[in-house]
Amino acid sequence: MTGSDDCFSPEFKPAPYWWDASPQEADTSGALPSTADVVVIGAGYTGLHAAVQTARAGLETVVVDAEAAGFGCSTRNGGQISTSVKPSFSTLRKRYGEALAVSILKEGQASLDHVTGFVSEEQIPCDFGVVGRFHGAHTAGQYDKLARDCDVRNPGFDTGAFMVPRDKQHLELGTDAYHGGIVFPRHASLDPGKYHAGLLDVARSAGATIISHCRVNDLARSAKGFEVSTGKGRIRANKVIIATNGYTGPLTPWQQRRVIPIGSYVIATEEIPAETMDRLFPTNRILSDTRKLVYYYRPSPDRKRILFGGRVSLQETDPRKSGPKLLAELVRLFPELAQIRISHSWAGIVAFTFDTLMHCGEDAGLYYAMGYCGSGVGMAGYLGSRVGRAAAGVDSDLGAFSRIPFETRPFYTGRPWFLGPSVAVYRLRDRLGI
Ligand SMILES: Cc1cc2nc3c(=O)[nH]c(=O)nc-3n(C[C@H](O)[C@H](O)[C@H](O)COP(=O)(O)OP(=O)(O)OC[C@H]3O[C@@H](n4cnc5c(N)ncnc54)[C@H](O)[C@@H]3O)c2cc1C
Repeated sequence: MTGSDDCFSPEFKPAPYWWDASPQEADTSGALPSTADVVVIGAGYTGLHAAVQTARAGLETVVVDAEAAGFGCSTRNGGQISTSVKPSFSTLRKRYGEALAVSILKEGQASLDHVTGFVSEEQIPCDFGVVGRFHGAHTAGQYDKLARDCDVRNPGFDTGAFMVPRDKQHLELGTDAYHGGIVFPRHASLDPGKYHAGLLDVARSAGATIISHCRVNDLARSAKGFEVSTGKGRIRANKVIIATNGYTGPLTPWQQRRVIPIGSYVIATEEIPAETMDRLFPTNRILSDTRKLVYYYRPSPDRKRILFGGRVSLQETDPRKSGPKLLAELVRLFPELAQIRISHSWAGIVAFTFDTLMHCGEDAGLYYAMGYCGSGVGMAGYLGSRVGRAAAGVDSDLGAFSRIPFETRPFYTGRPWFLGPSVAVYRLRDRLGI
């Protein structure tokens, strides 16, 4: 069934599944004020968490977004929450030395704690749960590597991770495709659309003004701070926070040269009978695997559908084209789903970096946090809060991610010409199991 229009259900939408329950807000935001203490550019998790901090500190805060608030990754993601730091401790130690490596790992744990605490304190109804992650090994060698890593105690914090050998795998997941895997019991999940909608309410209650459909076209320094020129007029601000992540453009060329925009693609399936879901997903864990071109998936919060994401094409493509390819991979993992169809297919643009770490910083009143490398559900809010507190003068320390160099490469201007060849190499390595 995969590979043709037959694989789309009659209810198919080329839009995020999450938007069914949490539709994008219409433009009811009104006129742009002429001044503000802080202008935040981007109304995703980074920008809104920053705005909560500045508004609660009593600063007049205006958040602008080129599209609807949450149009970017913050309402498109898989809702999987990890500690977000990709490089291992040994890689980090080699690069930055022991102390900074430990600080970086601790920031990862702090980001997981931050989203957990925030959702609970603000009572955001977003189907949040500490469900744990099963990370499958796609080769026997990868299983051994995971087991070795599991034995080395993480010096930043206790992960609680444990191995699941292949003969016990069905307790976690109804597939034979993996050679066992590792469970990270503290990883969590939520509904990203509901989380973003709740966060918008919190930001507004804190006093922030949100102006949607208002692209910033120019940013200039002035004697008193910044002149911010937008499609809805000009606003003067003492401080500006850049929260544009994968959608960072020529407005901020320094940041644009440091992030690599990459499309990430997801499908939702039509509803699946409860007994099939219970057999294939006996736990409610979020799932991923050891391939370089990682696939990430999970049951929907109501356990009626599977949400399945990954990178399926060399170049960016249309969700109608990525959908059948993702479905083919889903069926490879779970052959009994061969007749299942796609109800939603969508994409968003994430920001990778040359060191696969996130970054934040400040330059004379201009703050930024970005580069979450596809793992920003917890981290974007955490770093957004940090830059917000710094901009408000509450806590000037931006933490470990401000102390590492934010690298670019010669001649790189923000267009990743190397993406297609890199994806092709990763795909080949995954197929060969190396
Ligand atoms: C398909 C997909 C699946 C993902 N799955 C996961 C997951 O399971 N777990 C996880 O941890 N992470 C995941 N991520 C990544 C995560 O969603 C992001 O890291 C996070 O949402 C980034 O939030 P943000 O606020 O920094 O950026 P965004 O939410 O992308 O917001 C940036 C905003 O900036 C605005 N903007 C840009 N330029 C301008 C301008 N000039 N003027 C005004 N506004 C502007 C954009 O319109 C956009 O709304 C996924 C991402 C995608 C796309």
